[in-house]
Order: sequence, then structure tokens, then C-alpha cells
Amino acid sequence: MQIPEEVKDLISCLRSAGYSAYAVGGCVRDSLLGRTPGDWDLCTSALPEEMKTVFAGEHLVETGLRHGTLTVVRNHVPYEVTTYRIDGTYTDHRHPDSVSFVDRIDLDLSRRDFTINAMACDDLGRILDPFEGRADLGRRLIRCVGEPEQRFEEDALRILRALRFASVLDFEIEGETERAIRTLYPTLERVAAERIRTELMKLICGAGMGRILRGYPEVITFLIPCLKPAVGYDQQNPHHRYTVWEHTIRAMEGVPQDPALRMTMLLHDSGKPYVRTTDGQGIGHYAGHQAFSARMAAEVLEKLRFDRAQSERIVRLVEAHDIPLSTEKRLLLRRLNKYGEEDLRALFVIHCADRIATGTRNPEHARAHLEELNRALDSVLAERPCYTLKDLKINGRDLLDRGLRGREIGEMLEILLGRVMDGRIDNTREALLKEADRERGKET
Ligand code: ATP
Ligand code: MG
Repeated sequence: MQIPEEVKDLISCLRSAGYSAYAVGGCVRDSLLGRTPGDWDLCTSALPEEMKTVFAGEHLVETGLRHGTLTVVRNHVPYEVTTYRIDGTYTDHRHPDSVSFVDRIDLDLSRRDFTINAMACDDLGRILDPFEGRADLGRRLIRCVGEPEQRFEEDALRILRALRFASVLDFEIEGETERAIRTLYPTLERVAAERIRTELMKLICGAGMGRILRGYPEVITFLIPCLKPAVGYDQQNPHHRYTVWEHTIRAMEGVPQDPALRMTMLLHDSGKPYVRTTDGQGIGHYAGHQAFSARMAAEVLEKLRFDRAQSERIVRLVEAHDIPLSTEKRLLLRRLNKYGEEDLRALFVIHCADRIATGTRNPEHARAHLEELNRALDSVLAERPCYTLKDLKINGRDLLDRGLRGREIGEMLEILLGRVMDGRIDNTREALLKEADRERGKET
């Protein structure tokens, strides 16, 4: 196993002071899988105060001393060092009533959630693996350490973490662990929204996301109840081969592994079952589902405590997920004005994924159209066009000087911007002022 020099050094600092210490958890798992660990966590027999002595004079952050964690920052990289501990009893299914520091690594490993997360490694790369985590990595299995039901009863978040790791690593879930998930998922109710959100976002961005959403719809819709009607929902429409749920999953698979895009696709058609009408031929129609989905998305994101900016962005993308798009310059400028470049490119991708996920469109055509849209946007942007008020060659002050007041100013600027985007007037000071005068003359 490859261990960064800094980590070896941290371990040997603790060892020279008479303590034992290991790298532990996710970093060991990821290294064994040949993935680059996001961070390196250490654990040690040293108590928090003892760690402070060992690392005296270094950049330290007292992250969670009461839980035994001290962060040592070296070269701007934080390393969490935590005293070996065991958790007391869990009466609320989310926090241990107490934690006790212990001086044995094996006890610390036994409190961890899954066998693949319960391995430690010393500075020579020797691995401690009391629960056969390495074998489970080989079998590509998520398996609880100990009795699954008991471990999920202690901390319900582990249920979602099991699905998260199965998705991200594209692993199967071992039978007993799976059974416990299917029985106990309603206890997720007690878990804080922020913890749910973090795991759920990782889950939907994982390589095995589709398999997990297909296999555990009851868990996902327990967390996002407005999606319940989507599961198994026959769209009764010739343009749609799949149920809303299957279409949703395929649409998610069709966009990059980005939290905002995946979340947009998860929610984009959530409103369909709620707005459906059926015509004389028995065909289902879904007028207004975009706005309905957007409203439900806003509620979902609020409940999961997304920050405002991200939530507003996702809601905007859900609402606009199937707006008309074309390569025509005039329309592209209007779209740029409304959504900005980043979101407009996102909408191109969303469109493409949404079409392919119907199961009735030619994927090659959809992808070719996506490329055409991006190329058309490239060439429009290459001309450095005017598509926001900021780009206009005059501003409010110029209109104020010409006697316009209050709301008139903003309205006039919008009119002028519209005409510039439509190519009816040039974006020059002279042309804009002339048009403003002409427009005012029309009014009086
Ligand atoms: P990631 O790469 O996503 O950070 P990770 O395995 O490091 O994955 P963390 O949430 O950072 O996951 O947790 C670090 C370690 O702490 C885990 O590997 C696991 O050993 C342990 N752990 C984390 N959360 C729990 C939990 N709810 N119950 C038991 N052990 C946990
Ligand atoms: Mg981690």
C-alpha cells in the first residue's frame, strides 16, 4: 500500500512518543481499491491532550476534542487524528449516549459501519483487517460489521451509507445487510436532514446509482415522498416507453455525475402523476408538470436543507427542463439572457438526456443535436454578443440625463436590450440613445 510521507511521519511521531497509531477507514479502503483517497484519517491510542503535546507547535485545529479528534494541518492538508474509541449505547438511533476512549485499535475498528471501512494500516503498509474487509473488497460487497439490524438500530444513517457505498463503489449489498435495510429504512426518519443530504448526493452521483434506485425505490421515496407515485407509473403516452421512475433513472444516468444535474433529473418529472389528464384516445398528457415539479423540488430541497443558491438553481433547471431550444441566434441570446451560459449548457445536456430516456427517440440524433447546440452557442459567444443589461453601451444614468425617471429607466433598458438581441439595433451609444428617444416620442 502506498502511504503518503506526511501520513507516515504523523504515525511515527505518535509512535516515538510511545503511542500506537494507524491510518484508518476510507483511506485504507480506497488505497486497496486503487482509488485516490479524498483524505487520510488517523487513529491512535493517544488521548486528545496527549496528541496536543505530541504535535505541539504545529498548526492544530480542535475539531472535536470531546469525541477525541484533533486536526493536524501540514502543508495546508488537514489530517484528522482520533483517539481509539467505542460508542456507548444509542437511545436515539443517531448519536451514541457517550463515547469512551480505549487503548485498543481492534475495539475501535469494531464500532465502524462496514467491513471495508473497518481496516487500518501502519506506517509500513501492514494492514489490520479483523472483519475480512479485504475479502469483501474482492467480492465487491457491502457488509455490516457485526449484526446488521443492531448496527442500523444504533445509527440509522448507516442504512443510507450502505446504499451510498454500494452506488459509489458499484458494489452489491450482502444478504443480511440488505434484509436489515429493507426492514429498518423507516428509522431514517430520525436522522438529521444535513446528514441525509450528504449521503444522498454521493449516492446519486455514484456509478451504481441506477441499480440502487431500481433496487431500493422504497428507501429513496421514503426520503423524498413526492416521488412515490412515480414508481411504477405508466405514462400511457406513445412518446414514452418507460414508467416515470424508470425514465427518471435513465435521465439521471444520461447526465454527468454532478450533484445539481443528478438532483435536477431526479425531480424533473416528479409532478407528472399529479397533473395527468387523459384524452379521448386514452393517451396521458402532462401539461404544467414542469412548474409542478419545480414547486415540489423547492420543497424537497428545503427539507433537505440545500443552500439557497444551489436550491434555486436546481428549481430553475427543473422548471426549464424541456423549454424549446434551437440553434437560432436570436433564441440563444434570449436563453443566455434568462439562464446564463452555465445553466444554458446544462439545459442542453438535460434536454438530450431527457429525450434519450424516453426510450422512443434516436440517441444518436439527440447527441448530434446536443453538439449542434453547443457549437451554435460557441459561435454566438465568440462574437461577444450583448445579452445582459451590463453589456449595453448605455446605462441608467444616460437615460436619467435624458429625463427618464424611476421605473421608466429599467423598462427602457429592457426594451433596448431586447432589440439589440433581436438584431434590430446596434449596441452602440448613438443607436441606443436614438432608439430611446424614438421610443419616448411614440409614447407622448
Ligand atoms: P469518504 O471517502 O466518502 O470520505 P469514508 O469511508 O472516509 O468515505 P467518512 O464518512 O469520512 O467515510 O467516515 C470515515 C470512517 O468513519 C468510515 O470509513 C467508517 O469507518 C467510519 N464511519 C463513518 N460514519 C460512520 C457511521 N455512521 N457508523 C459507523 N462508522 C462510521
Ligand atoms: Mg472520509
